[in-house]
Amino acid sequence: MARFYKVGSTAAAIGAIHILTLLLGWYVQTDAGSITELAGYVFPESLMLSLIGGLMAGIGLLLGHVLKRLKSIKYSIGALTVIGGLMAISSPIYAYLQRILALGIKGYPTIGFFAAILTGVIQLGVGSLALLTPIKEEVVPATQAPAPTPPPAVTPAPAQPPIPRAPSGRARGATTRILPAPDLEEAVCSICYEPIPAGEAMRCMNCDAVFHRGCIEAWLSLNGTCPICKAVVVS
Ligand SMILES: [Zn+2]
Ligand SMILES: [Zn+2]
Repeated sequence: MARFYKVGSTAAAIGAIHILTLLLGWYVQTDAGSITELAGYVFPESLMLSLIGGLMAGIGLLLGHVLKRLKSIKYSIGALTVIGGLMAISSPIYAYLQRILALGIKGYPTIGFFAAILTGVIQLGVGSLALLTPIKEEVVPATQAPAPTPPPAVTPAPAQPPIPRAPSGRARGATTRILPAPDLEEAVCSICYEPIPAGEAMRCMNCDAVFHRGCIEAWLSLNGTCPICKAVVVS
């Protein structure tokens, strides 16, 4: 989840830089006897496209903070950043085709023009990255050793009591049990953030966090503690 916010912040920063390129010279006009530098903001359509396009990434990020589901966060940040990136790219190209070429202005594009295209392309790339990042990857807690493969969805066999590890100093003696909570409805798993089908929730008796059976069993096979409150899980 944190990764999507990171991607979103990057995209928002790129979007802001793109908006700043409006202040740079986009084009140098050489046919009026004198040399005039035309900044990006003098083209009204480009001004709008770049402003909205650049802001889109920021809006996606804000929306991402409001949304709860990881999937919605991903699509909000990804899609808005991609759309904004496309607008950002089209802004200097539109200025060039519709203003410079169509009006027959002589001159050449300058650094701001290329900076505007480049920032648009980067924004598009960052947005696509957010869309292509598989959500499953986010499930692996950063502290967890790279497990070869998580145990395949264990059929609800008589749950063997998880073996408590030696409490490694932390959570001074707090213990908990993680038990089925069959009456829970519309719960969201604290490990993978996906909804838990009715009757399949497991609940930490210490902090009330709920999990998929598969998620918490995979976690407990590597750690003897609750992933949320760190209390040592005893049988
Ligand atoms: Zn889960
Ligand atoms: Zn807990």
